[in-house]
Amino acid sequence: MSTATRILWRSAGTPLRSGVESHAAVCWWCGLSSLQSAPRSLVPDTFPDRPLARAKGSDWICAACAWTLCETVAIPEAQGRARIANLAAQGRRAQVRVRGGSAARYLILRLADDRIGLWQAGESAKKEEEWKAAIAELRQNPIPLPGIPFLESVVLTDLAPDATEKFRSYHHFGGAVLPWEVATDSDKARIKAILLSPPAGPYAAVIGDGQKHAAIYAEPGFGPVDCCVYFRPAHRNLRYVPAELDGLILAIEQLCVAGADDTEILSGRYQRPSPLLPRALATAEPVVARWRGGAFIDLALYLRRPRPVLLEDTTLGLCPPPTPIGSDRSRDRRPSEPALDPLLPRSPTLAESLPTERDPRTLPAPDRHDRPASGSKPVQLGLFGSGGPG
Ligand SMILES: [Zn+2]
Repeated sequence: MSTATRILWRSAGTPLRSGVESHAAVCWWCGLSSLQSAPRSLVPDTFPDRPLARAKGSDWICAACAWTLCETVAIPEAQGRARIANLAAQGRRAQVRVRGGSAARYLILRLADDRIGLWQAGESAKKEEEWKAAIAELRQNPIPLPGIPFLESVVLTDLAPDATEKFRSYHHFGGAVLPWEVATDSDKARIKAILLSPPAGPYAAVIGDGQKHAAIYAEPGFGPVDCCVYFRPAHRNLRYVPAELDGLILAIEQLCVAGADDTEILSGRYQRPSPLLPRALATAEPVVARWRGGAFIDLALYLRRPRPVLLEDTTLGLCPPPTPIGSDRSRDRRPSEPALDPLLPRSPTLAESLPTERDPRTLPAPDRHDRPASGSKPVQLGLFGSGGPG
């Protein structure tokens, strides 16, 4: 038996944080015995959810759980540099060290000659918006902009991540065959890739909110047959089928391209007419409707690409039928599914692609894990999965 904290901690090379000593004890939080423990007083007074502790009588917390409560953590340098390269490719603000100096915030951009341009971070978001709008030209010709001095260009190896960074500022992934990996919201493509193709064996996937502890709440997944992600914005562990997540993201992106915003997608009330909307409603809305009201749709909305990116994606066209949710569901199709709006134009091809009711023999109910808690009752988290090699 293992826990997500232990899986993640092992994937990071079992780092020992301050306060951990050689002391055999049962962990107050996860209930597993550990040879290395920290006094329970290490858990901050502000930590909520104490009733969820598994061994309430213990005064110790295991090294793995303690690590997930770290304020700061050393990000692996190679991975930190890969993140910097990713941010530079996009043109983003980043906290980096230049040639071993102390960390500072810069606007970083990969230039046409493959060097990395450094600009002083803007004094206001508006000035940085102007810089972002000029990225294409700045790659060719790195020049200062008003309020954004150009500092220098360097090679990637001149840059390093901050020595320690806030644990909660990162999303965390790790498993038996996936070395610990961190990500931020600028790495959503990578996050989506991990969630849609989880690593084999036990793993942990944690999407935080930057504010509150997240990793300590995670349940393990066992990829790719039992996929799980802890999604802090909903404070839930979501067990899901990757093909269903993929299909829901696609449907949401099609609605976005057709002009719908997140509020409309969440409510199902589409206010603004657009030429693409009727077709998107016919193909994508039924997919979205299956999940409306649960946290799974929040996860898909979080993972969808920004609209400007979607508009450039020619593969996202609404003309071909959408990929069915799970290839094994093709037998579920019911061509006679009524349209949402009888006034909407529908082609036979689109009609054939309409999602249909679930087959209860083969598909889990959509609300098995991801519906919001009813009423004002606190969310009850099943914290720790069982099984899987420890
Ligand atoms: Zn523990």
